[in-house]
Amino acid sequence: MTPLSSHYDVVVVGARCAGAATAFLLARAGAKVLVVDRQARGSDTMSTHALMRAGVFQLQQWGLLPKIVAQGTPKIASTTFHYGAECVRVAIKPECGVEHLYAPRRTVLDTILVDAAEAAGADVRHGVVVPGLQFDSSGRVVGVWLNTGEDRPLGIRADLVVGADGRQSLVAKLVAAETYLESRSASACAYGYLEGLPDDGLHWYFERGAAAGTIPTNEKQHCVFVGVPQDQFASTFRGDVARGFANVLGQCDRDLKRAVKDARIVGALRGFSGAKGFLRQPHGPGWALVGDAGYFKDPLTAHGMTDALRDAELLARAVLAGGEHAMSAYHRERDVLSLPLFEVTDAVASFDWTLDTVKALHTQLSSAMKVETARLAQPAAPANLRPTPVENEMDTHDSPWSLTIAGRPEIGATAERVRQTSMRDVEMFTEMTGDRNPVHYDAELAEKSPFGALIVQGGVTTGLLNAVVAEDLPGPGTVFLETAWKFVKAVRVGETIRASVKVEQVREDKPICRIETIVRNALGEPCVVGTATTYTMPLLVEGKAA
Ligand SMILES: Cc1cc2nc3c(=O)[nH]c(=O)nc-3n(C[C@H](O)[C@H](O)[C@H](O)COP(=O)(O)OP(=O)(O)OC[C@H]3O[C@@H](n4cnc5c(N)ncnc54)[C@H](O)[C@@H]3O)c2cc1C
Repeated sequence: MTPLSSHYDVVVVGARCAGAATAFLLARAGAKVLVVDRQARGSDTMSTHALMRAGVFQLQQWGLLPKIVAQGTPKIASTTFHYGAECVRVAIKPECGVEHLYAPRRTVLDTILVDAAEAAGADVRHGVVVPGLQFDSSGRVVGVWLNTGEDRPLGIRADLVVGADGRQSLVAKLVAAETYLESRSASACAYGYLEGLPDDGLHWYFERGAAAGTIPTNEKQHCVFVGVPQDQFASTFRGDVARGFANVLGQCDRDLKRAVKDARIVGALRGFSGAKGFLRQPHGPGWALVGDAGYFKDPLTAHGMTDALRDAELLARAVLAGGEHAMSAYHRERDVLSLPLFEVTDAVASFDWTLDTVKALHTQLSSAMKVETARLAQPAAPANLRPTPVENEMDTHDSPWSLTIAGRPEIGATAERVRQTSMRDVEMFTEMTGDRNPVHYDAELAEKSPFGALIVQGGVTTGLLNAVVAEDLPGPGTVFLETAWKFVKAVRVGETIRASVKVEQVREDKPICRIETIVRNALGEPCVVGTATTYTMPLLVEGKAA
């Protein structure tokens, strides 16, 4: 093994999906890269294996998909959702050049990424711990310390240190990266590997308070997991993981429980007690974060690896473009793509859903995933994705959209949110406004009225549009300047509503949009229709949320 240099362009801490992919992309582009990991090369880690279309797309773009296939990773041609007794099967259609999904074991995926980084010229070291960073007198990160097994830590200098060191990132801690968004909920899970289940694509099972899934992976095995709310981890699994595992399987689907009982478990079951999701500031002087280190979300939507590969691509582009604006663009783009996934994942992980609402959440998830794949598949990044070259600094500052968190929206872009209304919404709205209209509270009277049942206040219905514009499109910082809404159908308490917006006009001189808005009930009937004008506050200062 060649000795380490004393200086690298980039040192990456962590050599799994995020770190090895980042090292691969940077080394391939000619950067001098060192990537280290405290664990052994080819080792396993706590994770199940489903890669979504954007993840498979990235592997294909990087020329690594054939290697994944060559390792015997099975093609996945369909995804089946089981909502109680209802079964929804979705065939994986060829899109963006991706014909099938794959779910490689981490021993396969991470090793292929590490091998690719090494083949591209990166120095790769496993069994090496980073115990600390080196800072200059201004507080800029200028290198790392490495525990290589020698008596003393070895100091290595670097222009950039990338923390790809996972959810409990030491790099994030040492640079005091700000956590500016945390999830409300978390799920817990147990999983294991089985031989003898039918080869029939991905299956996801949902029942009130429980979830499960079967994921075809290498060596003709299926990874089978069960999920419960985090506060039920101990009561479900402690003392006897296998019994808890079988109970949750049975709760989700009796046939699944039987099929698992007839199959052969390979190795031990593993448990994950859950952790809250977060978004952290992903860059600063001399450092950047990628993958779980900067952005973690609950595993129940099986999207962490896909996003780690995506962010490796976005970060590598920014590093290669160079400059503060490129890093701000990385931050912005990561958040634009992640926030809808983060929000829907949080809702799924809460287990605070009915089978109808979790189904609607999956539709929302699917829309967010389509946007993610489409963005990655664009041959040239769109303006708000492109790392801003230094010579364009003036142009960037001149654009009224440049300091908004989500950037300039595209005309025709759409976003939507789904939620189930409840009596609690009615009560909270009354607390805020004093509106105690009997049509919201007096069930007998409401039944005799033309509404036929209790209805929620109009503000509860249109409030979901506030969430869409502020969270998704045009995005964080957006407020309404003007609305023109017609309330065409009342929304009953307990009804599921879907609020959608579509961008019609975008002003170039100000961060102002005109949008079409609509709220529909579960039958697709319009309840509120109209238009709105929005203003998006420029909240980014030097790439940081103000
Ligand atoms: C139970 C569970 C199931 C999941 N299922 C899925 C799924 O089906 N699909 C999906 O897409 N995602 C899933 N995820 C999420 C996925 O595992 C993560 O998003 C992904 O591993 C993130 O990759 P990463 O490279 O950012 O971090 P990690 O995979 O956590 O890798 C970080 C690496 O950094 C190294 N490291 C840390 N500190 C140091 C240090 N100081 N010095 C040297 N090395 C260090 C560690 O050894 C580790 O190898 C699941 C997660 C869990 C917990």
